Parts: sequence; structure tokens; C-alpha cells
Amino acid sequence: MITDLQQFGPLLTDVDLKKYNTYHIGGIAKYLISPTNSVDLINLIDYLKRNHLPYIILGNGSNIVLNDEPFNGVYITFKNMRAYQFNEEDQTAYAEAGAMLSEIALKSIDYSLKGLEFACGIPGTVGGSIYGNAGAYNSCILDYVSEVTIIDENMDVVTKSHDDLTYGYRTSIFKSHKDWLILAATFKLSPGDKEASLEIIKDRQQRRVATQPLEYPSAGSVFRNPEGDYAGRLIEMCNLKGYKIGGACVSEKHANFIINTGNATSKDIYNLIKYVHDTVLTKTGVDLIIEQEFIGWE
Ligand SMILES: Cc1cc2nc3c(=O)[nH]c(=O)nc-3n(C[C@H](O)[C@H](O)[C@H](O)COP(=O)(O)OP(=O)(O)OC[C@H]3O[C@@H](n4cnc5c(N)ncnc54)[C@H](O)[C@@H]3O)c2cc1C
Repeated sequence: MITDLQQFGPLLTDVDLKKYNTYHIGGIAKYLISPTNSVDLINLIDYLKRNHLPYIILGNGSNIVLNDEPFNGVYITFKNMRAYQFNEEDQTAYAEAGAMLSEIALKSIDYSLKGLEFACGIPGTVGGSIYGNAGAYNSCILDYVSEVTIIDENMDVVTKSHDDLTYGYRTSIFKSHKDWLILAATFKLSPGDKEASLEIIKDRQQRRVATQPLEYPSAGSVFRNPEGDYAGRLIEMCNLKGYKIGGACVSEKHANFIINTGNATSKDIYNLIKYVHDTVLTKTGVDLIIEQEFIGWE
């Protein structure tokens, strides 16, 4: 198996998954492979499908809850597919799925292009951010994406235009096509002013530092905000700030963040998310929808 997989890209074995997600949880991955180009990636997926081997796609692991239990398959990352380039003439940025969204956002300012300032504090890859339509401050990533290149269910490389991409608040067409792989995206930006963009970024960064527990491992907001309300407000109203299960704790700073206080297990995070959800439902009648994804759970 090892020698088979090695042909598709750099392969690591017995990898501690804690280094691959921002909650710093998860067990040991038997195989973790990071192809360097789309041909190897397609051949890898083809090989895995033919051999009935399950696989899990990891971005930067900043919106997922991994399982500590062993997973009988292969983890795939895009960390070797992270190239990007700007085109000043048509005000676009092209980025491979493994590029960090915040890097594209910051770099666009060097080219005096505006639009992605909101994304500077989002610690995800381009692929993971498009999958979940990451957003902040009333903006979302898919508003700025003109094209996405994917590998579809037939293993064809297909380019989807903006109009093909149905999306909404923290959701996208990719959530209902889990077998599609995002390879790259083109962002459509507009002419901006460097200083003005930097001011916006500074303001957003200050707001994050003031309101989010960035000093602890987490995966950002746990639940989507219900229409016209805030998940954090409801959780706080239920007196859950500071509530702990094992090493997992509802942040005192932001009630919609669950933090790993040092030794949280996957089960601790899972149980605390469930407890918060059920308590809010019982006490307020609001059925909060989870924003984070459970990956590798049966
Ligand atoms: C401190 C902090 C602050 C945050 N703030 C925000 C915020 O303001 N707004 C916001 O929206 N989010 C926020 N997040 C959550 C997270 O950063 C975003 O959702 C991010 O876009 C997830 O990207 P990722 O690369 O980490 O994806 P991952 O968490 O690795 O993966 C998420 C999903 O995408 C899938 N996926 C990843 N790459 C691909 C690909 N190439 N093709 C197909 N599927 C893929 C994975 O399989 C998984 O199902 C925050 C997180 C943290 C820790």
C-alpha cells in the first residue's frame, strides 16, 4: 500500500493529526498524502476508488472536528498545491486550493485590489473556504469568486462559473456534492486604495482580538447564527460560558467558540457541542445548526 501511494505525491505515515487542525485534536493518521499537481491527485482518487479505500480531504483543518479514533483510509491535503498569481489588468487573482485565503487577501492589497479585506483573519485554505463559503462582516468568499475548477464525480476537471455556484450563509453547492474536489479558484476583485484596505484590515483584526479567544485552539464559530439572532447570544443566555467537559470549554470571551484548554479529546469537543446544542434547544426552542464539520466520525 505504501509503495502504491507514494507514486501520487509525498506520503507521511503514522501522522499525529493534532498538527493538522486548529482544535489540535485527533488521533494518528496511518496515511497522509499531499499531491503536488492535479494529475497526481486525479490518479490518487482513481486508485482509492478502485480499491474501495475511503479518504478525507483536509484544508487547514480550521472548521472541522476530527475523531481520535483510527480511520481506515487516507488523509489528503492540498499543502503542495498552493500557488497563486494576480492579474492586475483584469483585477483577478487565481489561487490553487491549498493557498491560504488570508495570504491571497493580504497580497491583493499589494496590487491595490480590494474586496477580500474581510477574509484576512480567516485561517482557512482557498478550498476549505469555498466549500463552506467562509465569510465575515456581511461579506462571503463566493461573492468574489468568478470561477472554480473542480474534479467532479466522473473524475473530469470542470470549471464552474459564478452562476453555477449556488451558495448561502456558510453553505455552498460543494456541501451537497461531497465527491467534488476543489482544485483552484479565480477571484474577481476591484481597484482599491492600499491605505484604505489596510485600515479596514487593522480594524477587523482589532475586533477579532477583542472578541475572540485567539490565544486558545478552536475552530472558530461552532454554530451558524440563526436568522435575526446570534448563536453566541443564545448560548450566553443559557449561562453556558465557561461550561467544561474534559478539556473542552465554552469560551468566556465568545460563547459561540469552544476552546481546547490543553488536553481536550475529540469526544470532549463532540460532547460539549451536543450539550450546548441541546441546552439551547431546551431553554430557548432554537435548534442551532452546526457550522463545523465532523470528519472521520461514523
Ligand atoms: C480563530 C478562527 C477564526 C475563524 N473565523 C472565521 C470567520 O470569520 N468566518 C468563517 O467563515 N470561518 C471562520 N473560521 C473557520 C474556518 O477558518 C473557515 O471555515 C475556513 O474557511 C475553513 O477552511 P479550511 O481550509 O481550514 O477547511 P477545513 O476545516 O480543513 O475543511 C472544511 C471542509 O472543507 C473540505 N475541503 C477542504 N478543502 C477542500 C477542497 N480542496 N476540495 C473539497 N473540499 C475541501 C473539507 O473536507 C471539510 O469538509 C475561523 C476559524 C478559527 C480557528
